[in-house]
Amino acid sequence: MKIAIVGAAGRMGRMLIAAVLAADGADLAGGSEAAGHPDMGRDLGELIGADAVGVTLTSDPRALFEAADAVIDFTVPTATAAHAMLAAESGTALIIGTTGLDAAQQAAVDAAGEKTVIVQAANYSVGVNVLLGLVEKAAQILPDAYDIEVLEMHHHHKVDAPSGTALALGHAAAAGRGVVLDEVACKARDGIVGARPRGEIGFATLRGGDVVGDHTVMFAGPGERVEITHKASSREVFAGGAVRAAQWASSQQPGVYSMKDVLGF
Ligand code: NAD
Repeated sequence: MKIAIVGAAGRMGRMLIAAVLAADGADLAGGSEAAGHPDMGRDLGELIGADAVGVTLTSDPRALFEAADAVIDFTVPTATAAHAMLAAESGTALIIGTTGLDAAQQAAVDAAGEKTVIVQAANYSVGVNVLLGLVEKAAQILPDAYDIEVLEMHHHHKVDAPSGTALALGHAAAAGRGVVLDEVACKARDGIVGARPRGEIGFATLRGGDVVGDHTVMFAGPGERVEITHKASSREVFAGGAVRAAQWASSQQPGVYSMKDVLGF
């Protein structure tokens, strides 16, 4: 199976090159970057400090969509929306890891799902997908006297907040409670904000250092507190999951799927 990577010189892009090269039954079909990137034209193997693979970094994503069976996209929301349109035009599967999409960008992804296979996940690690299931279950069992707070920490380069994974955890908690996250979420607190409303789902965002991704969901109740935590110590877990999603996508009908679908949860 031929897999291409857009945003191939990014932190995740480099991990994805290594993951595709290491995967059984997968060939690296190409890699793109934003026009003017300093690594343009470099061999993708050499880009990650490995042997040359004879495939170079390009600024032409259309050619990648034509050449590949699946494209993996961990870039920025504007680029991901454009890539979704290319996926729809070419019928190539698109595996999206980019977070922080606005409503219009998400609509472009959803529209592409009518024409081709899209897998979209805020987090491609198996562990976080287990966490999502545990959080939904806990929120279903514990009454709303248990205040739900989602705490996350990431490296200082991260541009969106709360993280896509924190929001996915918030959605899982809301689903367990039978409420809609946007109606109960509090994404920041500053100053005299008053007492915490019952039923609120709060978020706290920490940024610093090289933290790959820590998430904790707290259920703070009367006399006890339940905390469920996941800590990623390597981006390899996301890259491996995304390659697995690309291989899974090759046998699916058009639609927008999640990592839960890929893992069969
Ligand atoms: P990064 O900034 O290191 O990499 C993004 C890359 O995209 C950069 O190299 C940038 O030049 C490139 N890019 C920008 N515009 C482009 C375009 N038009 N065409 C091609 N490439 C373009 O960031 P990162 O840490 O690798 O994260 C990327 C995204 O992935 C973020 O949204 C992050 O939140 C998300 N992420 C998701 C998961 C997951 O499991 N879903 C895991 C880690 C990161």
